[in-house]
Amino acid sequence: MTTVLISGASVAGPALAYWLQRYGFTPTVVERAPAPRPGGYAVDFRGASMKVLERMGILDAVEAKATRMGAMTYVKESGKVAATTSSEAFSGELEILRGDLVDILYTLTKETTEYLFDDSIVSLDQDADGVDVVFESGLRRRFDLVVGADGLHSNVRRLAFGAESSYIHDLGYYASVCTVENHLGLDHTGQIFNVPGKTVGTYSARDNTEAKALFYFTSSDLTYDRRNVPSQKAIVEEQFKDLGWEVPTLLEGMRTAPDFYFDSISQIKLDSYSRGRIALVGDAGYCASPLSGMGTSLAVVGAYVLAGELHAAGGDHEQAFAAYDVRMKDFVVACQKQAVDGAMWFIPASKWFMKLRNLTFRMMPYLPWRNMIRDMSLKVGNAIELTMYEDLPQRPVAPRR
Ligand SMILES: Cc1cc2nc3c(=O)[nH]c(=O)nc-3n(C[C@H](O)[C@H](O)[C@H](O)COP(=O)(O)OP(=O)(O)OC[C@H]3O[C@@H](n4cnc5c(N)ncnc54)[C@H](O)[C@@H]3O)c2cc1C
Repeated sequence: MTTVLISGASVAGPALAYWLQRYGFTPTVVERAPAPRPGGYAVDFRGASMKVLERMGILDAVEAKATRMGAMTYVKESGKVAATTSSEAFSGELEILRGDLVDILYTLTKETTEYLFDDSIVSLDQDADGVDVVFESGLRRRFDLVVGADGLHSNVRRLAFGAESSYIHDLGYYASVCTVENHLGLDHTGQIFNVPGKTVGTYSARDNTEAKALFYFTSSDLTYDRRNVPSQKAIVEEQFKDLGWEVPTLLEGMRTAPDFYFDSISQIKLDSYSRGRIALVGDAGYCASPLSGMGTSLAVVGAYVLAGELHAAGGDHEQAFAAYDVRMKDFVVACQKQAVDGAMWFIPASKWFMKLRNLTFRMMPYLPWRNMIRDMSLKVGNAIELTMYEDLPQRPVAPRR
């Protein structure tokens, strides 16, 4: 039995564990958090990833927890509507809160996968036959393969590929999201307010019982401690403190929010998603950034392809990882491009472009290309042809060399 250690129990990690155990591999997942992480922002699925959810048998479960968001509204400082965009532009074909998705994936895999919570990998030492792993807890184990599914700031990538600075590409923005009161009484919808270089908004969540506040802003590289939440909240506060509309109330909510996310909007670009017996999946390997709206789709599709290629290669990781690189490349490029193209619309740099965007969105329903946004993002979501790996004849896992 080929043993595979996966670092990260969010989206890509458990999705990969699911497919690996289905093909007869033995997955173990190590997660730094003490339990599956609840809460978080809304994430969505488009195109090929919908087929993967179906093949995993969880499409119904995800649909049952769907946010069912309607159109999003861009508002002026007075709260008056400036423009509206269709739900597909923001929520894809199917949208769910990240924590709900993680819960579904964990429930799906917990009986067949060994989970090690509250731990992290300290060192990876690979040779021709396997990888020796030392954990923070002091545990020492050997695995046939190791996969990093530990996000944008991947620990596995740092250990096996080198410093993050060689692979991370900042797009020039920062994002913050937290849970706040639904003080506007939003009903499955959201409102967004812009000034040049800043986007702030709120959307209802959990059937309108709460809301998320989002703050996006343009900035060159900021120096801050990633573990120091108060200092990150101070950055957001400083950036948005002078704005009108509902911003003071949203900042007030942020100060006492039960959760808080803050990070640069960055992409990960690698020539290959593996080094020897160690590979990367999801944001760790090819983060497209929140502006792409494709990160979750990339994570589940990437997990599907990586496990499928290992299965198809009979466990020969060299062959499988090379095929994984080839299959994912164009999809990753398309998803990352979508983030770069979308940024100027979501965080307009100037007043005149804000006006142009609002005018475009107002006119869109009356134009022949009214479905352009939906069609373009669907095209990106389908920029990969999915192989039906499960129909391949079962081959014995390659003997260890
Ligand atoms: C604000 C925001 C909005 C977004 N909106 C969308 C959207 O609308 N649509 C969309 O498709 N995507 C969206 N995304 C992107 C999406 O959330 C990610 O692409 C997706 O979660 C990637 O999944 P992942 O499993 O690869 O990584 P992550 O979800 O980042 O998970 C990484 C996991 O690894 C764990 N970990 C980290 N370090 C270690 C360690 N040292 N040891 C063990 N475990 C570790 C973490 O605790 C975490 O559980 C958004 C992201 C953000 C931040």
